[in-house]
Amino acid sequence: VFNFAAGPATLPENVLLKAQSELYNWRGCGMSVMEMSHRGKEFLSIIQKAESDLRTLLNIPSDYTVLFLQGGATTQFASVPLNLCKPDDVVDYVVTGSWGDKALKEAAKYSNPKSIWSGKSEKYTKIPNFESLEQTPGAKYLHICANETIHGVEFKAYPTPATENEVLVADMSSNFCSKPVDVTKFGVIYAGAQKNVGPSGVTIAIVRSDLIGSAQPSTPVMLDWKIHADNNSLYNTPPCYGIYMCGLVFEDLVEQGGLVEVEKKNVKKASILYDAIDESNGFFRCPVEKSVRSLMNVPFTLAKPELEAEFVKEAAKEKMVQLKGHRSVGGMRASIYNAMPLAGVEKLILVFARVGISGFK
Ligand code: PLP
Repeated sequence: VFNFAAGPATLPENVLLKAQSELYNWRGCGMSVMEMSHRGKEFLSIIQKAESDLRTLLNIPSDYTVLFLQGGATTQFASVPLNLCKPDDVVDYVVTGSWGDKALKEAAKYSNPKSIWSGKSEKYTKIPNFESLEQTPGAKYLHICANETIHGVEFKAYPTPATENEVLVADMSSNFCSKPVDVTKFGVIYAGAQKNVGPSGVTIAIVRSDLIGSAQPSTPVMLDWKIHADNNSLYNTPPCYGIYMCGLVFEDLVEQGGLVEVEKKNVKKASILYDAIDESNGFFRCPVEKSVRSLMNVPFTLAKPELEAEFVKEAAKEKMVQLKGHRSVGGMRASIYNAMPLAGVEKLILVFARVGISGFK
């Protein structure tokens, strides 16, 4: 099938086949990756290679620490304030969708967050003009969600925090490794793996190293970046198999020519899909402002909502699945992560045409 799910999501077929080929016996060691000690030389080589390929892909400078964690991006909603500030410190949040809003609410338990911009009244279809942002003087960090998975809104450039003492923090769960990113603009980038880079269960945090080591005293060990940094992400048993899978995906992305090439493919897929929507004479509609439409998650509605079920049925007949929008917003959503082939998007557009034409009658 072509799987348009928002996450867990489709993974590259060649990566899955490679994992299958070494499922029982990883490179002749006689064990599956699922069976080996996380402290053995085999797994150490796996996690080190995964980190090294990720560093290559994102050109991560040596003064940044890469952490392989658990608990999903949702856990980082708490880890960020716990590690970066004291309970009374003010922190700024730009809320461009439901995930940014969840991050803000979680931060309120461990800091004093201010929502300095919210797109809620416009149904989360916009990214603010950075000049108009009223950042709080003395805020410890400025938090954004780089790509809102449910609403399909993506930052195409990034705001700069007001002062040098403040850092930019980004939840990149749903556009991680989909395009090059200048890591040096950020203090922290975090992402759940289960969209672009692997199975659920692995969360990656890329943290400027000088920001590590000042966690609030009550921070649980599992949320303290220093504990994980000091132990090379092996303080406790990590999600070994998930990290292995992420490593295979990183290797594949490097082999594809890196994120510049990956972005070109993503731009092509997204533009033919948005063009099909925009050229349907209003039959299909994407509510998101054109300049900030996501390359990864394409939400759309049908002018006649009663045809949505027909659309899903027609798509399923052609083996295209998981196209219903998030339960909180309805409509449809096609998630077209790195691993979605161009052929999948082209096939979806054929169904657009078919349902569109019958709908006009
Ligand atoms: N942030 C974004 C942008 C997401 O899309 C998601 C999940 O879909 C999350 C955070 C939450 O991630 P997790 O389920 O890994 O905690």
